[in-house]
Amino acid sequence: MAETILEVKDLVKHYPLTQGVLFKKQVGAVKAVDGVSFQLDKGETLGIVGESGCGKSTLAKVLMNLERATAGQVLFKGEDISRLSGAALKSVRRNIQMVFQDPYTSLNPRMTVGDIIGEPFEIHPEVAPKGDRRKAVQDLLDVVGLNPEYINRYPHQFSGGQRQRIGIARGLALKPEIIICDEPVSALDVSVQAQVINLLEQLQGEFDLSYMFIAHDLSIVRHISDRVGVMYLGKIVEIGTDEQIYENATHPYTQALLSAVPVPDPAARESRERIILSGDIPSPANPPSGCRFRTRCWKAEERCAEEIPLLAIPTTLEGPAAHDSACHFAEVRESAAA
Ligand code: ADP
Ligand code: MG
Repeated sequence: MAETILEVKDLVKHYPLTQGVLFKKQVGAVKAVDGVSFQLDKGETLGIVGESGCGKSTLAKVLMNLERATAGQVLFKGEDISRLSGAALKSVRRNIQMVFQDPYTSLNPRMTVGDIIGEPFEIHPEVAPKGDRRKAVQDLLDVVGLNPEYINRYPHQFSGGQRQRIGIARGLALKPEIIICDEPVSALDVSVQAQVINLLEQLQGEFDLSYMFIAHDLSIVRHISDRVGVMYLGKIVEIGTDEQIYENATHPYTQALLSAVPVPDPAARESRERIILSGDIPSPANPPSGCRFRTRCWKAEERCAEEIPLLAIPTTLEGPAAHDSACHFAEVRESAAA
């Protein structure tokens, strides 16, 4: 069985809502991430999908320790890293890097590409001592398919796809074991998206990387993911392998997302029934009781308002390939398969 590199248990991130002159009185909380559990195996890609605002970036930031978890655990190779600080945190951070969504704003326009990619070496000089840095950065440029001679150029001299390659090179600089990609291609043209995804796949094999790949759209993660977790209002509502999610989704929310994915085959498109969800996503500061999806769900009954549907805790499952759906009435939608 594959080695589990990251295990997340009941992770919670609440942002306090405050009031009063000095914002001292807490009047509630935005439940951005509210009890998320999953595991990531070495060399695997886990896709995380959900509408804007469902907590994907917050989850990424808490995993990276850029934000402190309110509760729960993040185990990196069995060690809880969610409460580390100082030198211990710094040493773990080397192993988990992030690639951000917007290649136009995530790169400092006043820094050269060489300085951007080499910046992580300032914090971890042991990876590339000063004399070796230029060469290390040029090697990284080469690895992501950019001309090493571009080292002194500035971000505005590159296209969107090239900038995302720069972001990826920076993410690789410290030779991490895990890269969390937060909507890495969402801001790019469709033709460029495929190139960047292909590059990420190639690098995964070359450097033995484990990926979390965040997107707001199921069609983007399909190609790259081994497994997919679907998020709704701070929770994972369904998780499974590619096949389990794309062919046999059992959660109504996943089924609705899938019904919106474009299909190339016109016959299949004709026979497919599009599920239009009613209403907006409720506020994460005041989520519905019971099942959070029930206010938009066509299957919802009284029970859904009273009882929270739970995913089994991952450690009780037979390995990460298990398919799980947080719905009281989970079943494959027959009409979708026709
Ligand atoms: P996603 O990446 O899925 O679009 P986010 O994780 O960015 O979602 O946001 C989840 C929820 O948490 C949203 O309602 C957002 O407004 C809220 N949120 C994110 N960051 C903060 C913050 N620093 N303070 C308060 N609320 C926040
Ligand atoms: Mg986001």
